[in-house]
Amino acid sequence: MPACRPSSGGIHRQLPGERGRHRAPLSANHNRGVGRVIAVANQKGGVAKTTTAITVAAGLVDSGLKVLVIDLDAQACATFSLGIDPEDLPAETTDFLLGDADSERRDRELRSAMRMTDDAVTLLPATLALAAADVALADRPGRERILDQALQGLRTEFDFIIIDCSPSLGLTTINALVAADEVIVPFKCETLSHRGLGQLMETIDQVKRWSNPGLRIAGIVPTLFDGRTAHAKAVLADIGPRYGVRVFEPIPRSIRFAEAPAAGRTILATAPNSAGARAYRRLAQELAAG
Ligand code: ADP
Ligand code: MG
Repeated sequence: MPACRPSSGGIHRQLPGERGRHRAPLSANHNRGVGRVIAVANQKGGVAKTTTAITVAAGLVDSGLKVLVIDLDAQACATFSLGIDPEDLPAETTDFLLGDADSERRDRELRSAMRMTDDAVTLLPATLALAAADVALADRPGRERILDQALQGLRTEFDFIIIDCSPSLGLTTINALVAADEVIVPFKCETLSHRGLGQLMETIDQVKRWSNPGLRIAGIVPTLFDGRTAHAKAVLADIGPRYGVRVFEPIPRSIRFAEAPAAGRTILATAPNSAGARAYRRLAQELAAG
């Protein structure tokens, strides 16, 4: 059973009073993202990749944008957290990545796999079949570009496509980096996660050199941030200059994040006025502004 499955209470599709939640219309000068593909990547687990992917997606939807989240982790945490149970899904949901259909059939499979979630984010869910993807893709010609090609027909239909990567630098994550225009890196400000960051930056560099020269690091998102510790502050001050990338405003550590997945909603719905929700809304605005 996937590690992130809510342990009790099941998945509630709707919070009381959430029906008809207000969505701000796009203003005339809104900088609309035209099919921007963003990979949320870090090979370390537990750094809030999934939380960042789904909450930023919900924040973009709140700004009137059309957003697809792709759950590329066999643990299906994004799928669960957006209120969809992978056991209710047909097994072929991930065929678009693993099957050998021609592009027309693959496009049909992709579309029939999509689900609308209560946060109004469109989801391409994960199934356990993804666990074997790195091995299954290994001897395919063009194995790094399968996701990129599968997404070609969708880019014009969404303002943003956000890919929630698995905690590895294997072929599925490489597929995400090859398909992406930008990558955001959730990062816990502690020494140990710092070490893996160099390896991730090196991988992104290699993908840029060999497969996707346009790939851009949008920035690092400091997550689970505890501003009371001098150590967290020191690490935060160090990462920007060290890696030469933008560092977004930290997302505070808060128990409210643990509550949201059990409701099948993001924190924007379960605790809309919390500091965490406000920080993710600002991050979504920063990303939408380019
Ligand atoms: P990853 O996808 O990198 O493995 P997750 O998004 O699943 O990480 O987050 C790991 C755990 O941390 C989850 O239980 C999540 O609810 C929790 N979490 C995420 N962000 C925060 C935060 N800002 N404060 C407290 N807990 C958080
Ligand atoms: Mg995850």
